[in-house]
Amino acid sequence: MSVQSLSVVIGGRACNARCPFCVSEQTSDRKQARKHTINRINLETACVMCGTARPPALLMTGQGEPTCYSSEITDYLEFFRDRPFAPRELQTNALALGRLATRNKSGVRGLDKTTLQHWRELGLNTIAISIVSIHDEANACIYNPDYPPLAETIRFVRSFGYTVRLCLMMMRGEGYVSLPEDLEAAVQFCRQHDVGQLTFRPIKAAYASKSEHATEFVRRHGLTDEEVQRIHEYVAASATPLYQLMHGMVIFDWHGQNVCSANCLTSDMASPPGDHRSYIYFRNGLLTTSWDHPTAAAILQGDPNHD
Ligand code: SF4
Repeated sequence: MSVQSLSVVIGGRACNARCPFCVSEQTSDRKQARKHTINRINLETACVMCGTARPPALLMTGQGEPTCYSSEITDYLEFFRDRPFAPRELQTNALALGRLATRNKSGVRGLDKTTLQHWRELGLNTIAISIVSIHDEANACIYNPDYPPLAETIRFVRSFGYTVRLCLMMMRGEGYVSLPEDLEAAVQFCRQHDVGQLTFRPIKAAYASKSEHATEFVRRHGLTDEEVQRIHEYVAASATPLYQLMHGMVIFDWHGQNVCSANCLTSDMASPPGDHRSYIYFRNGLLTTSWDHPTAAAILQGDPNHD
């Protein structure tokens, strides 16, 4: 068994965006999130279970927006500083980073340029920015009416030396990506703006979504299997496959642009039992292999006294 990634779930469900397809249960306006501590005992065990043969990727993700918990990101990066994990990636909607780029204020306590420089020095190397479009107006309709210019956000993040990945969620509608030519335009945008990697996947309802609103939005705006298939066939015909990652993700060279095709919320049912190629860690100590069935798939239980 080879573990390819350890996802650590940053913070809680606080988020500064309002995506209609969000599968997280949303609470009120949640820019300032409470600081929590990390269960380091189970985190040590998680590291041991990842092994040392080949460094797994460290993915810092969230059930809300990770940058709302900037001090927790720092805590994790300090914990992982000298450990064999690479690459180290932060997944974000980048609203706070874009505001920092354009207004010199992120809107999140403790997140400023010094923080970004510090994270870089602690070994964070990749910022993965989720988008639904290369057009700011379309992103604004989904994330926040006050969406900062994406090109400026990318330039800003690159200025610290971070690798930028755009994680494009495909959906139907004006300005979004539902056709091969829309994806072509996204690839061109990436080349033009020095984006290192582009991942694309359709918006999907979670396997066990608790949000009827999100499920209904995905039903109305999501791509059909045939539409997704058409896009994959187009990419396969236009680009050169380089290598395969977990969950069937394939990396392509598309005229010099790194492009990765992926499925959103891939159920780990596809993996054979026992073949856990990615672990998910929650700060209370829960170590699991499944987003959809975190408790049933637990390897380590979380500490009941840990919030
Ligand atoms: S950015 Fe993520 S957590 Fe925030 S509303 Fe959108 S999908 Fe939900």
